[in-house]
Amino acid sequence: MINTAQDLPEYKKRLKRALDNKFLRNAMAAFAAAYPEGRARALTGVDFEALRVEIARGKDETLPRLEELYEAFKAKAEAAGIKVHLAKTAREANEIIAAIAAEGGAKKIVKSKSMTAEETFLNDHLEAEGLEVVETDLGEWIIQLRHEGPSHMVMPAIHLSRDQVAELFTKVTGTTQEPDIESLVKVARRELRKHFLSADMGISGANFAIAETGTLGIMTNEGNGRLVTTLPRIHVALVGLDKLVPDLASALKILKALPKNATGQVITSYVTWITGPTECKAAPSGLKDLHIVFLDNGRLALSKDPVFAEVLRCIRCGACANVCPIYSLVGGHNYGHVYIGAIGLILTYFYHGRKNDRAIVQNCLNCLACKAVCPAGINLPLLIKKVHGEVLAEEEDRPLKNRLLRRVLHNRRLFHFLLRRASLAQKPFAREGFIRHLPFFFGKEHGFRSLPAVVRTPLRDRWARVAGKVAQPRLKVALFAGCLVDFVYPEQGEALARLLQERQIQVDFPPDQSCCGLPAKCMGEMEIAREMAIQNLKALDPADYDHVLVLCASCGSHIKGTYPLLLKKEPGLGVKVQQLAEKLVDFSSFMTEVLKVKPEEFLGRKEKAAYHAPCHLCRGLKVTGPPRELLKVAGYEYVPAKNEEVCCGMGGTFSTDFPELSAELLKNKLDNVAATGAELLVTDCPGCVLQLKGGMDKRGGKIRVKHLAEAVAATRKEGSKGK
Ligand code: SF4
Ligand code: SF4
Repeated sequence: MINTAQDLPEYKKRLKRALDNKFLRNAMAAFAAAYPEGRARALTGVDFEALRVEIARGKDETLPRLEELYEAFKAKAEAAGIKVHLAKTAREANEIIAAIAAEGGAKKIVKSKSMTAEETFLNDHLEAEGLEVVETDLGEWIIQLRHEGPSHMVMPAIHLSRDQVAELFTKVTGTTQEPDIESLVKVARRELRKHFLSADMGISGANFAIAETGTLGIMTNEGNGRLVTTLPRIHVALVGLDKLVPDLASALKILKALPKNATGQVITSYVTWITGPTECKAAPSGLKDLHIVFLDNGRLALSKDPVFAEVLRCIRCGACANVCPIYSLVGGHNYGHVYIGAIGLILTYFYHGRKNDRAIVQNCLNCLACKAVCPAGINLPLLIKKVHGEVLAEEEDRPLKNRLLRRVLHNRRLFHFLLRRASLAQKPFAREGFIRHLPFFFGKEHGFRSLPAVVRTPLRDRWARVAGKVAQPRLKVALFAGCLVDFVYPEQGEALARLLQERQIQVDFPPDQSCCGLPAKCMGEMEIAREMAIQNLKALDPADYDHVLVLCASCGSHIKGTYPLLLKKEPGLGVKVQQLAEKLVDFSSFMTEVLKVKPEEFLGRKEKAAYHAPCHLCRGLKVTGPPRELLKVAGYEYVPAKNEEVCCGMGGTFSTDFPELSAELLKNKLDNVAATGAELLVTDCPGCVLQLKGGMDKRGGKIRVKHLAEAVAATRKEGSKGK
């Protein structure tokens, strides 16, 4: 049985061990590099967006009908001679299976891969009952021999190198085994065959349970699933209720997405369909004794939850772990509890309780990479924050930073007053825009980047000077600045004002605007996030403007994507929220698609510029082409860097909560940028500027870091009016 860290200090110790583990780092890095290519190849010609809409819709229609589908499945399956059981809890499922084994006189059990069995800790239960259980999936067998849990839902032993496996197999067989994958597979095949032939009972999971026909569908790659379900005289399938689908067509949609998204395979090597017991020479009746144990374990309640039902759409492809920057640093044993990756941070709370989730649920950058690849369209980052909120609500005490945030953030005047005070208080430590000595409460692990100083005069106080009234403007736009542009990097707002005013655009700074509320959401404080959204809607009426511009991709993505969800039930705000979302535009899209700027409006500098794509721009607002295009239009030589769209490690408060992880991601990012030979690094989110600029300063790098608005303003031909 695995136990996750129950508190943050213990969790951080484990993260540190994972970061220091060279084997793990290499294995995870190799996988993270290979997966996207394989997935893209397998999905060639597939309309992934359309498929995910279909899967999500199908699941959403099915979830409220789980009980009805269960009854329909049961009737069909029993008519075909299958014994169907329903277990309310994990313990009940284990007891039912142990009783089937006892009744059938089973002593040895072979098992194929089943995440549901991992969820119930079935092996522990059966072994405590005196049964011998042998895992037969290669990865599962390896981790069983190592007394570990899976570190990935599809590839359970991905954290191990071939040398480690060779060492393990040498111990198991008593003869030296070479670290050669083909020979190691042969060893496993030879060792496991004798268990298949002598087992009394086989246990499997299932990917689908088709209600219309009472059929189980099982997707596997190694052939062991077929041996487990056919050779022994008893077969028990343990299946989560969420695997019920109404018909074969629904199952086939999932089948189309699952292997492609999971391992980059067009289809798994085996797809097995079981409808009723088959002939079995070893069984006294001549027919296999076939049982299906459906597991509830909270699924029915979850299927009725207005917020969290969505998680039951999961088809267990594991892709949300494959693309997660944190997972690729620390591996699955530190990133979930049985269920791994983004979905693991959520399901752990529901299936294994608050204590097992309270530390790991905080370890999320909100980078949206998981959401982008989920074939079931689950809004994983948002649900992670909502689970975090549930955990906080159940804790006796909220952390100090949350208590402070609750007190300060929703009072705009107090918040801005404190920021102004901070600019005075930091004075003795600030130089060249950075705080040169961190206050005592920052540990040395925070020294991986220089922190910026808060400016003396925020953008809001400069606005009247930098952006006057434009006579006969051709467009009227509002700037939603966000805290960082307002109080740390006002030069980004000033650059924007210069560019727009020259082009006869009236740009306003609605003065009552405040923090967008994203930091509150990231800390699990959904109620504060909702209050902030209302406050900003009061401060800025989108009806007064042609566009609402953002220089901060994170603010923009939060306003566009999360405000409508936060304010769904807010009376009288529906139209405004929708209008705001429709009018919101990022800087690069505004310049290239609304103003359609041309190269002749800029000086051709030909400086080499690398680009970092902010998570909330490329995945949140789904803007990818315009920033790169704008760089070129503005006269830069754009030099692509490796992993441009991978998070820089900022993640709002994440970088102060998990500085060691943030530092690693920042290092990878800056190394990739340095490899391009760029003189300038450009991005379009002030949060990313903070991280990248601070990191570059700390390493003494020569590459300058700028917001795209500054970079573009620097090459403008003065007085250029555009079209
Ligand atoms: S949002 Fe990013 S960091 Fe968080 S779970 Fe998803 S992929 Fe991982
Ligand atoms: S949440 Fe989505 S991406 Fe993650 S395992 Fe489930 S279906 Fe796959």
